[in-house]
Amino acid sequence: MGEFDLIARIRDRAATRADVILGIGDDAALLQPPAGMQLVVAMDTLNAGVHFPTETAPADIGWKALAVNLSDLAAMGALPAWCTLSLSLPDANTTFVDGFLDGFLALAQQHDVALVGGDTTRGPLSVCVTVHGFVESGTALRRDGAQIGDDVWASGTLGDAAAALAQWKSGGDVDAALRARLNRPTPRVALGHALRGIATACIDVSDGLLADLGHVCNASGVGVQVDVDALPASEALRIAFDGEARRVPQATGGDDYELCLIAPSNMRATVQQVAASVDARVTRIGRVVDRQGVQAHTADGVAWSAPMGWRHFD
Ligand code: ADP
Ligand code: MG
Repeated sequence: MGEFDLIARIRDRAATRADVILGIGDDAALLQPPAGMQLVVAMDTLNAGVHFPTETAPADIGWKALAVNLSDLAAMGALPAWCTLSLSLPDANTTFVDGFLDGFLALAQQHDVALVGGDTTRGPLSVCVTVHGFVESGTALRRDGAQIGDDVWASGTLGDAAAALAQWKSGGDVDAALRARLNRPTPRVALGHALRGIATACIDVSDGLLADLGHVCNASGVGVQVDVDALPASEALRIAFDGEARRVPQATGGDDYELCLIAPSNMRATVQQVAASVDARVTRIGRVVDRQGVQAHTADGVAWSAPMGWRHFD
């Protein structure tokens, strides 16, 4: 089976939308953006052995490749519409492509995203996805709007994916719930969209909460204080890791794909209501302060930083 058969396989399964004038099959896609909206574009690449263990199931790779991109749009408050997919494959393996599409297209369908084009090449296993979406002009959530005195919030739970990776690297059993969070992250698209006009800044947690908050601090010219013992933890994480062992993946682990949002402190009830209206959970984890950088502390107010020598969560 060659490149063109693979592309035909992809085209046969890809869904479309009314605003796709021409999808897979021509030299380029022809798309009709809605009037009055800003186009929001994100791209992320997943390389085998770097961004996922080589033995990850194809359907999980497919899901995650799209999820990490949808998460970027969620962090902007945008709704996704179209995506393109660049697949680099060691061989024209239909079993892999079929499995990959199972995960990729299941998530695409959930968010009404049409796969409108891409590229298929031979090479080491690598997946690059671009997502296009829209936001009402001027309403995007950016990293540069955090104000001193604002609250810092996190959606969902933090640390599950890093905990799964740590269990996997240590050679032990990987808890199924934690593994699901690593392989099938949930992009918080509806939450990001609902927070337009409420959040002053937003970022998705991909590299670890404290690192990602550092980007918000730099962009906004502020500092944040985070209570590492206030970070939302799943039941599975609480059972598998306690105390300091839990703080490390929660505060520094990557791959959560939750939203970290900043909102004025007089909007607390609104943030909770808006989150509830889209079935999302949000937890207040810190505040924006008049000092540069990210400071973490424990529940009893003692300054906290990740212990040296912890390399699991890089
Ligand atoms: P070209 O040589 O003009 O770049 P290709 O043979 O690469 O054309 O692609 C043919 C069509 O198939 C194009 O519409 C392209 O967007 C689409 N396509 C190729 N690979 C993929 C893929 N992995 N996923 C989705 N569409 C793809
Ligand atoms: Mg091409």
